[in-house]
Amino acid sequence: MARILIVEDEPDLALSLEEDLRRQGHQATVARDGAQGLELGTSSSWDLVLLDVMLPKMDGFEVCSELRRAGATTPVILLTARTQEAEKVLGLDSGADDYVTKPFSLRELRARIRAQLRRGSRETEHVFHFGECEVNFDRAELRRSGQPVDVTPQELRLLGVFLRNRGRVLSRDRLIEAAWGNGTAITDRAVDTHVFNLRKKIEPVPSAPRFLIGVRGLGYRFEDEDLTNS
Ligand code: CA
Repeated sequence: MARILIVEDEPDLALSLEEDLRRQGHQATVARDGAQGLELGTSSSWDLVLLDVMLPKMDGFEVCSELRRAGATTPVILLTARTQEAEKVLGLDSGADDYVTKPFSLRELRARIRAQLRRGSRETEHVFHFGECEVNFDRAELRRSGQPVDVTPQELRLLGVFLRNRGRVLSRDRLIEAAWGNGTAITDRAVDTHVFNLRKKIEPVPSAPRFLIGVRGLGYRFEDEDLTNS
């Protein structure tokens, strides 16, 4: 069970989200405008925030950056009318973690919510499984169908960033910051090369990736199996 804040001014949508989340066993609270969303978002602790972009008083982008400025690390999923809006905000690194484009199905939203909630509880995991691969970060080891795969420490760090952020779009800037460290002179091109090399090691068909997905204009996302299976 998670505590979820819904910031949405369309009453019908807010109600159906609230009801659906409660049916999933979560606690849901609705804020009707941006100002109320920010107030509730900072005055209480939440496991997730569903944040509409077009809101009275303060738009979703602003609410999101204010939440981050206030130190909130809660996953934020934007509810946006247009793909471009979310691309803009993710590209600017306002701090949102994912987005769904309206109209969305409750099924799609549920899958994205699960991915974000799982991400939070996954921070401390050391062994990951996906496809035929097993990654053990304690032993700095990647195995595929039980066989050890040659992987460089840098590739392993990058893979770790992806695995701890499953289902989340990561810009090249964020990847550089997380896997190489801030201030490193690494080009976007070098990130792409590392991704390309990782795909050869983990993907069944590297030219048609199933896990390390390129998101046009944004960066990459490690596809969550539950997302693709749901
Ligand atoms: Ca709205």
